[in-house]
Amino acid sequence: MAGESDYIVTFEGVRKSYNGGEYVVKNLDLQVRRGEFLTLLGPSGSGKSTTLMMLAGFESPTQGNILLNNVVLNNIPAYKRDIGVVFQNYALFPHMTVEENVAFSLQVRKVPKNQIADKVKRALDMVHLGPFASRNPAQLSGGQQQRVAMARALVFEPKLVLLDEPLGALDKNLREDMQIELKHIHENLGVTMVFVTHDQDEALIMSDRIAVFNDGIIQQIDRPEVIYNQPKNKFVATFIGETNMLKGTISSLDDDCYVVALAGGNTIRAKRVESLSIGQTVSVSVRPEKASFIKQNSEIDYVNQITSSVVEIIYHGDHLCLTLNNGQDSDFIVKVPTEYLNHEFSPGQQVAVGFQPENCRLLSS
Ligand code: ADP
Ligand code: MG
Repeated sequence: MAGESDYIVTFEGVRKSYNGGEYVVKNLDLQVRRGEFLTLLGPSGSGKSTTLMMLAGFESPTQGNILLNNVVLNNIPAYKRDIGVVFQNYALFPHMTVEENVAFSLQVRKVPKNQIADKVKRALDMVHLGPFASRNPAQLSGGQQQRVAMARALVFEPKLVLLDEPLGALDKNLREDMQIELKHIHENLGVTMVFVTHDQDEALIMSDRIAVFNDGIIQQIDRPEVIYNQPKNKFVATFIGETNMLKGTISSLDDDCYVVALAGGNTIRAKRVESLSIGQTVSVSVRPEKASFIKQNSEIDYVNQITSSVVEIIYHGDHLCLTLNNGQDSDFIVKVPTEYLNHEFSPGQQVAVGFQPENCRLLSS
């Protein structure tokens, strides 16, 4: 639309403290792109829900502004914000049928009566609940109830939908189905979604962008593959996915690689992505799936090679995780295909693993 900015929501220097305590959201600057699926990911207590509640209008910022379509929201009550919300514990009305629960969203917004039945039907069909329209919530499974909550949030066709751990109470299989379904609803409607989760897999699967929260601060905001492959700091590297952290000291700069001397005497070459100084203490993050065992007559020339002994072998069904330790550096985990079972690794065995400088992420903090 002409004149619409690329951003639907802007947080400007937003801080929040409850009852005059310390800030649980600290100086938040965040822009949500129109039409995107943005996930707020972080551990419990990192300020994700508080951020969402301020946007929904259930909490107000202690400092700063929140803008929706360039209009400052601070004093606009929740029901006037045209925002759909699905919260984990935002219960359905037990005495109303599924249909009535969804219709309620339209009635409070004064949608003309003759449009209500049709809109409710479309919303229920979208979440595959058409046949359940006249049931009561108590006659539905947890997953179905959560779909009603979703239909209720979508039925009035808001441009922005906020979801706070909506799949958190569902068991694994159902949760995975709903993740894909929600992703399709997002794609089909073109609506902007801001989604909260503490589950990193869920964030990686669903999001256009992920904002990683810790301690009331966004540590990094970017596309899932950038968050995973180019974490900005140790917190992001360890919170998202598994990683090996090798501690060392930068000894030189060789072409486009820093040479890092590890405590155990090995050296590792890591691609230079930012300027660091010689002598600086760093951690090198290497994802377990980026390291391979070096077979005899291997054709791949690994720039980094370390020798270590097998401590533990864990079978995961579709892969194996081997924990290695050389007695001086931290454990090093390698993720390998299950065919390796035939190689009969055993604890105590000496093995060589290799990995490339571009898969080594240097982290100073
Ligand atoms: P998250 O959703 O990331 O788990 P929250 O935003 O719920 O984090 O909480 C951030 C911090 O604010 C926590 O320390 C939490 O205890 C505190 N907090 C949340 N809600 C309230 C409240 N209503 N009153 C007082 N403290 C709160
Ligand atoms: Mg929360």
